[in-house]
Amino acid sequence: MPATKLKVTLLSHTLNPEEVVAAAINQCYSAKGGSELKETIPEDKRKRLIDLVVASGHHSTIEHASFSFAVEGVSRALTHQLVRHRVASFSQQSQRYVAVKQGDFNYLIPPAIAAKPELKKKFETQMQEIGSFYSELIEGGILAEDARSVLPNAAETKIVITMNARELLHFFQHRLCIRAQLEIRQMAAEMLKIVKPLAPNIFAHAGPTCETEKICWEGNLSCGKWKAIKGAELRSRGA
Ligand SMILES: Cc1cc2nc3c(=O)[nH]c(=O)nc-3n(C[C@H](O)[C@H](O)[C@H](O)COP(=O)(O)OP(=O)(O)OC[C@H]3O[C@@H](n4cnc5c(N)ncnc54)[C@H](O)[C@@H]3O)c2cc1C
Repeated sequence: MPATKLKVTLLSHTLNPEEVVAAAINQCYSAKGGSELKETIPEDKRKRLIDLVVASGHHSTIEHASFSFAVEGVSRALTHQLVRHRVASFSQQSQRYVAVKQGDFNYLIPPAIAAKPELKKKFETQMQEIGSFYSELIEGGILAEDARSVLPNAAETKIVITMNARELLHFFQHRLCIRAQLEIRQMAAEMLKIVKPLAPNIFAHAGPTCETEKICWEGNLSCGKWKAIKGAELRSRGA
Protein backbone atom coordinates (compact mmCIF):
# COMPACT_ATOMS: atom_id res chain seq x y z
CA MET A 1 0.00 0.00 0.00
CA PRO A 2 2.56 2.59 -1.08
CA ALA A 3 2.52 6.34 -0.70
CA THR A 4 2.85 7.93 -4.13
CA LYS A 5 3.89 11.24 -5.72
CA LEU A 6 2.87 13.81 -8.32
CA LYS A 7 3.61 13.25 -12.00
CA VAL A 8 2.45 15.73 -14.67
CA THR A 9 3.00 14.90 -18.36
CA LEU A 10 2.03 16.96 -21.40
CA LEU A 11 0.04 14.69 -23.74
CA SER A 12 -0.50 17.15 -26.55
CA HIS A 13 -0.89 20.84 -27.36
CA THR A 14 -1.82 23.19 -30.18
CA LEU A 15 1.04 23.23 -32.65
CA ASN A 16 2.81 26.63 -32.61
CA PRO A 17 0.35 28.01 -30.05
CA GLU A 18 1.53 31.63 -30.17
CA GLU A 19 1.47 31.76 -33.99
CA VAL A 20 -2.13 30.54 -33.92
CA VAL A 21 -3.12 33.00 -31.20
CA ALA A 22 -1.37 35.95 -32.92
CA ALA A 23 -3.14 35.10 -36.20
CA ALA A 24 -6.47 35.00 -34.35
CA ILE A 25 -5.80 38.38 -32.71
CA ASN A 26 -4.69 40.00 -35.96
CA GLN A 27 -7.62 38.50 -37.86
CA CYS A 28 -9.86 40.97 -36.02
CA TYR A 29 -8.06 43.91 -37.65
CA SER A 30 -6.72 42.58 -40.94
CA ALA A 31 -8.07 42.17 -44.47
CA LYS A 32 -5.79 39.12 -44.87
CA GLY A 33 -6.89 35.59 -43.99
CA GLY A 34 -5.76 33.68 -40.90
CA SER A 35 -3.52 31.26 -42.84
CA GLU A 36 -1.49 34.11 -44.35
CA LEU A 37 -1.35 35.92 -41.01
CA LYS A 38 -0.05 32.82 -39.23
CA GLU A 39 2.91 32.67 -41.61
CA THR A 40 3.74 36.38 -41.75
CA ILE A 41 3.46 37.93 -38.28
CA PRO A 42 7.03 38.56 -37.05
CA GLU A 43 8.03 37.44 -33.56
CA ASP A 44 8.17 40.95 -32.03
CA LYS A 45 4.69 41.77 -33.32
CA ARG A 46 3.39 38.44 -32.03
CA LYS A 47 4.62 39.36 -28.57
CA ARG A 48 3.08 42.84 -28.78
CA LEU A 49 -0.31 41.46 -29.87
CA ILE A 50 -0.36 38.84 -27.12
CA ASP A 51 0.70 41.33 -24.42
CA LEU A 52 -2.02 43.70 -25.60
CA VAL A 53 -4.91 41.20 -25.41
CA VAL A 54 -3.82 39.65 -22.15
CA ALA A 55 -3.23 43.01 -20.45
CA SER A 56 -6.51 44.47 -21.72
CA GLY A 57 -8.55 41.40 -20.75
CA HIS A 58 -9.63 40.54 -24.32
CA HIS A 59 -8.87 36.91 -23.58
CA SER A 60 -11.14 35.12 -26.06
CA THR A 61 -8.34 35.13 -28.66
CA ILE A 62 -6.03 33.04 -26.49
CA GLU A 63 -8.66 30.29 -26.31
CA HIS A 64 -7.32 29.05 -29.66
CA ALA A 65 -4.34 27.38 -27.96
CA SER A 66 -5.01 24.34 -25.82
CA PHE A 67 -2.97 21.91 -23.76
CA SER A 68 -3.70 18.36 -22.54
CA PHE A 69 -1.99 16.86 -19.49
CA ALA A 70 -1.90 13.42 -17.91
CA VAL A 71 -1.72 13.78 -14.14
CA GLU A 72 -0.89 10.90 -11.81
CA GLY A 73 -0.07 10.68 -8.13
CA VAL A 74 -2.61 13.21 -6.91
CA SER A 75 -5.23 12.82 -4.21
CA ARG A 76 -8.97 12.78 -4.59
CA ALA A 77 -8.88 15.91 -2.39
CA LEU A 78 -6.95 17.65 -5.16
CA THR A 79 -9.19 16.52 -8.01
CA HIS A 80 -12.31 17.52 -6.09
CA GLN A 81 -10.98 21.09 -6.19
CA LEU A 82 -9.64 20.79 -9.73
CA VAL A 83 -12.93 19.77 -11.34
CA ARG A 84 -14.59 22.92 -10.00
CA HIS A 85 -12.89 24.60 -13.00
CA ARG A 86 -15.81 24.09 -15.36
CA VAL A 87 -14.26 25.49 -18.52
CA ALA A 88 -11.67 22.68 -18.54
CA SER A 89 -12.23 19.09 -19.75
CA PHE A 90 -11.51 16.13 -17.48
CA SER A 91 -11.37 12.34 -17.72
CA GLN A 92 -10.70 10.71 -14.36
CA GLN A 93 -9.93 7.15 -13.34
CA SER A 94 -13.13 5.60 -12.01
CA GLN A 95 -13.31 4.01 -8.58
CA ARG A 96 -16.20 1.92 -9.93
CA TYR A 97 -14.40 0.35 -12.89
CA VAL A 98 -10.92 0.27 -11.40
CA ALA A 99 -11.34 -1.62 -8.13
CA VAL A 100 -8.58 -1.59 -5.52
CA LYS A 101 -6.88 -5.01 -5.46
CA GLN A 102 -6.63 -6.65 -2.00
CA GLY A 103 -7.26 -3.31 -0.31
CA ASP A 104 -3.86 -2.12 -1.59
CA PHE A 105 -4.61 1.45 -2.66
CA ASN A 106 -2.07 4.21 -3.31
CA TYR A 107 -2.43 7.37 -1.26
CA LEU A 108 -0.84 10.77 -0.73
CA ILE A 109 0.52 11.82 2.66
CA PRO A 110 0.26 15.61 3.07
CA PRO A 111 3.79 16.98 3.77
CA ALA A 112 2.61 18.57 7.05
CA ILE A 113 1.68 15.08 8.31
CA ALA A 114 4.73 13.37 6.76
CA ALA A 115 6.95 15.81 8.70
CA LYS A 116 5.67 14.45 12.04
CA PRO A 117 6.85 10.84 12.38
CA GLU A 118 4.28 9.77 14.98
CA LEU A 119 1.33 11.23 13.10
CA LYS A 120 2.71 9.83 9.82
CA LYS A 121 2.82 6.34 11.35
CA LYS A 122 -0.76 6.66 12.60
CA PHE A 123 -1.83 7.96 9.19
CA GLU A 124 -0.29 4.94 7.47
CA THR A 125 -1.96 2.59 9.96
CA GLN A 126 -5.31 4.24 9.19
CA MET A 127 -4.74 3.73 5.46
CA GLN A 128 -4.00 0.04 6.06
CA GLU A 129 -7.15 -0.36 8.12
CA ILE A 130 -9.23 1.34 5.46
CA GLY A 131 -7.68 -0.92 2.80
CA SER A 132 -8.49 -4.03 4.85
CA PHE A 133 -12.09 -2.97 5.41
CA TYR A 134 -12.45 -2.15 1.69
CA SER A 135 -11.29 -5.73 0.92
CA GLU A 136 -13.74 -7.11 3.47
CA LEU A 137 -16.57 -5.26 1.74
CA ILE A 138 -15.53 -6.55 -1.72
CA GLU A 139 -15.19 -10.12 -0.39
CA GLY A 140 -18.62 -9.70 1.20
CA GLY A 141 -20.09 -9.15 -2.27
CA ILE A 142 -20.27 -5.36 -2.15
CA LEU A 143 -19.68 -3.69 -5.53
CA ALA A 144 -16.65 -1.38 -5.93
CA GLU A 145 -19.08 1.51 -6.50
CA ASP A 146 -20.25 1.12 -2.89
CA ALA A 147 -17.04 -0.19 -1.28
CA ARG A 148 -15.25 2.99 -2.44
CA SER A 149 -17.31 4.94 0.09
CA VAL A 150 -14.71 4.07 2.71
CA LEU A 151 -11.75 5.31 0.66
CA PRO A 152 -10.26 8.59 1.94
CA ASN A 153 -9.60 11.96 0.33
CA ALA A 154 -5.95 10.88 0.37
CA ALA A 155 -6.59 8.03 -2.12
CA GLU A 156 -4.51 8.45 -5.26
CA THR A 157 -6.21 9.15 -8.58
CA LYS A 158 -5.24 9.75 -12.19
CA ILE A 159 -6.80 12.35 -14.45
CA VAL A 160 -6.42 13.74 -17.96
CA ILE A 161 -6.96 17.50 -18.17
CA THR A 162 -7.42 19.74 -21.20
CA MET A 163 -7.43 23.51 -20.77
CA ASN A 164 -7.14 26.31 -23.26
CA ALA A 165 -4.67 29.11 -22.53
CA ARG A 166 -7.38 31.42 -21.21
CA GLU A 167 -8.55 28.84 -18.69
CA LEU A 168 -4.94 28.02 -17.79
CA LEU A 169 -4.25 31.69 -16.97
CA HIS A 170 -7.41 31.75 -14.84
CA PHE A 171 -6.44 28.45 -13.17
CA PHE A 172 -2.89 29.66 -12.47
CA GLN A 173 -4.20 32.94 -11.07
CA HIS A 174 -6.18 31.08 -8.41
CA ARG A 175 -4.16 27.94 -7.87
CA LEU A 176 -0.67 29.48 -7.75
CA CYS A 177 -1.86 31.86 -5.05
CA ILE A 178 -0.51 30.90 -1.63
CA ARG A 179 -4.12 30.70 -0.41
CA ALA A 180 -4.64 27.63 -2.61
CA GLN A 181 -3.98 24.24 -1.02
CA LEU A 182 -0.36 23.08 -1.27
CA GLU A 183 -0.96 19.96 -3.36
CA ILE A 184 -2.96 21.71 -6.11
CA ARG A 185 -0.46 24.59 -6.02
CA GLN A 186 2.37 22.15 -6.67
CA MET A 187 0.46 20.60 -9.57
CA ALA A 188 -0.28 24.05 -11.05
CA ALA A 189 3.43 24.93 -10.75
CA GLU A 190 4.36 21.77 -12.68
CA MET A 191 1.81 22.59 -15.39
CA LEU A 192 3.17 26.13 -15.73
CA LYS A 193 6.74 24.79 -15.96
CA ILE A 194 5.60 22.69 -18.94
CA VAL A 195 3.56 25.30 -20.85
CA LYS A 196 5.77 28.36 -20.33
CA PRO A 197 8.49 27.38 -22.84
CA LEU A 198 5.78 26.49 -25.39
CA ALA A 199 3.97 29.83 -25.15
CA PRO A 200 6.31 32.19 -23.26
CA ASN A 201 4.47 35.42 -24.15
CA ILE A 202 1.08 34.10 -23.04
CA PHE A 203 2.32 32.50 -19.83
CA ALA A 204 4.53 35.47 -18.92
CA HIS A 205 1.17 36.69 -17.53
CA ALA A 206 0.57 33.59 -15.37
CA GLY A 207 0.44 33.72 -11.61
CA PRO A 208 -1.43 35.20 -8.66
CA THR A 209 -2.66 38.78 -9.11
CA CYS A 210 -0.12 40.11 -6.57
CA GLU A 211 2.51 39.25 -9.19
CA THR A 212 0.64 39.86 -12.46
CA GLU A 213 -1.43 42.95 -11.52
CA LYS A 214 0.40 44.07 -8.40
CA ILE A 215 -2.91 43.75 -6.57
CA CYS A 216 -3.81 41.21 -3.92
CA TRP A 217 -7.59 40.84 -3.86
CA GLU A 218 -7.67 38.58 -0.81
CA GLY A 219 -8.42 41.32 1.74
CA ASN A 220 -8.25 40.01 5.33
CA LEU A 221 -7.34 36.55 4.07
CA SER A 222 -4.20 37.80 2.28
CA CYS A 223 -0.97 35.86 2.93
CA GLY A 224 0.89 39.19 2.94
CA LYS A 225 3.19 38.28 0.04
CA TRP A 226 2.13 41.48 -1.77
CA LYS A 227 4.12 43.50 0.80
CA ALA A 228 7.36 42.11 -0.65
CA ILE A 229 6.37 43.03 -4.24
CA LYS A 230 7.41 46.54 -5.31
CA GLY A 231 4.39 48.73 -6.02
CA ALA A 232 1.86 46.05 -5.03
CA GLU A 233 -1.20 46.82 -2.91
CA LEU A 234 -3.89 45.00 -0.99
CA ARG A 235 -7.46 45.53 -2.12
CA SER A 236 -10.81 44.01 -1.30
CA ARG A 237 -13.89 43.79 -3.52
CA GLY A 238 -15.99 43.76 -0.37
CA ALA A 239 -17.46 46.78 1.40
C1 LIG B 1 -8.26 29.54 -2.30
C2 LIG B 1 -9.56 28.95 -2.76
C3 LIG B 1 -10.51 28.59 -1.84
C4 LIG B 1 -11.74 28.03 -2.24
N1 LIG B 1 -12.67 27.68 -1.30
C5 LIG B 1 -13.85 27.15 -1.68
C6 LIG B 1 -14.84 26.76 -0.72
O1 LIG B 1 -14.64 26.87 0.48
N2 LIG B 1 -16.01 26.23 -1.17
C7 LIG B 1 -16.28 26.10 -2.51
O2 LIG B 1 -17.36 25.66 -2.86
N3 LIG B 1 -15.37 26.45 -3.43
C8 LIG B 1 -14.17 26.97 -3.06
N4 LIG B 1 -13.25 27.32 -4.01
C9 LIG B 1 -13.57 27.09 -5.42
C10 LIG B 1 -13.99 28.37 -6.13
O3 LIG B 1 -15.11 28.95 -5.52
C11 LIG B 1 -14.29 28.08 -7.61
O4 LIG B 1 -15.37 27.17 -7.70
C12 LIG B 1 -13.11 27.50 -8.34
O5 LIG B 1 -11.92 28.20 -8.04
C13 LIG B 1 -13.37 27.58 -9.85
O6 LIG B 1 -13.35 28.94 -10.21
P1 LIG B 1 -14.16 29.56 -11.39
O7 LIG B 1 -15.62 29.28 -11.23
O8 LIG B 1 -13.76 31.00 -11.51
O9 LIG B 1 -13.47 28.79 -12.61
P2 LIG B 1 -14.01 28.08 -13.91
O10 LIG B 1 -15.15 27.18 -13.63
O11 LIG B 1 -12.79 27.51 -14.47
O12 LIG B 1 -14.55 29.25 -14.80
C14 LIG B 1 -13.70 30.23 -15.37
C15 LIG B 1 -14.51 31.49 -15.54
O13 LIG B 1 -15.55 31.24 -16.51
C16 LIG B 1 -16.73 31.92 -16.13
N5 LIG B 1 -17.79 30.94 -15.85
C17 LIG B 1 -17.66 29.60 -15.74
N6 LIG B 1 -18.85 29.00 -15.54
C18 LIG B 1 -19.76 30.01 -15.50
C19 LIG B 1 -21.16 30.05 -15.28
N7 LIG B 1 -21.89 28.96 -15.05
N8 LIG B 1 -21.77 31.23 -15.30
C20 LIG B 1 -21.07 32.38 -15.52
N9 LIG B 1 -19.73 32.41 -15.72
C21 LIG B 1 -19.08 31.24 -15.70
C22 LIG B 1 -16.38 32.74 -14.87
O14 LIG B 1 -15.94 34.02 -15.26
C23 LIG B 1 -15.23 31.97 -14.28
O15 LIG B 1 -14.39 32.73 -13.44
C24 LIG B 1 -12.01 27.85 -3.63
C25 LIG B 1 -11.04 28.23 -4.56
C26 LIG B 1 -9.83 28.77 -4.15
C27 LIG B 1 -8.80 29.13 -5.21
